Amino acid sequence: MTPTMAPAAALARLQAGNRRFTADPERRGAPGGSWLQRAGTQAPFAAVLGCADSRVPVERVFDQGFGELFVVRVAGNIAGPTQVGSVEYGVRHLGIRLVVVLGHSGCGAVDATVATLDYVPAPLSSDFVSIVDEIRPAAVAAQEAVPKATREELVRIVVRRNAEAAAARLRVAAGLEPLVSAGQVLVTPAEYSLETGVVEFSPPPLLDSRHPH
Ligand SMILES: [Zn+2]
Repeated sequence: MTPTMAPAAALARLQAGNRRFTADPERRGAPGGSWLQRAGTQAPFAAVLGCADSRVPVERVFDQGFGELFVVRVAGNIAGPTQVGSVEYGVRHLGIRLVVVLGHSGCGAVDATVATLDYVPAPLSSDFVSIVDEIRPAAVAAQEAVPKATREELVRIVVRRNAEAAAARLRVAAGLEPLVSAGQVLVTPAEYSLETGVVEFSPPPLLDSRHPH
């Protein structure tokens, strides 16, 4: 681990930032309306399951403000039980009909998982292994599909497959499957490029046109 900001300095930076935030109505404003207007209820129009990576701030990537996105972030944008439950809340209680699983290039969680395939990995805690275990099936499948891939190539492939796997898992979750099957909710994987900032959406299954809404 490279040395970074000391805790006291980090805390002071957060507190100063929050003072600027509360003092300036402009900062609390957003494309979708003001902070105060959003304090009562929320009606986000999409859910995003994204990675905890600091370089992928979901609201900023999509240029959305307060109350617009229901964001669940976890290392490796995995769909474990608590993430699935969070998305389910957004869909069933807030009426969200679009769910995006947002992977990204250079994902550290994916890289750590790929490292467990052929390389001697750093010792991982059981807590971190619980994340690796979610990503690992995509990594194993990618390695089998492209056995000669370099580690970097594998990471690129697994980022995509891992987002697809999380989307697939969300689609069949008990609380979501009926709505997905009925064409009322769309779950799609996507990938953010750290290099360009572009989000590419995988071709999603189109909403069933027999169910106009
Ligand atoms: Zn990541």
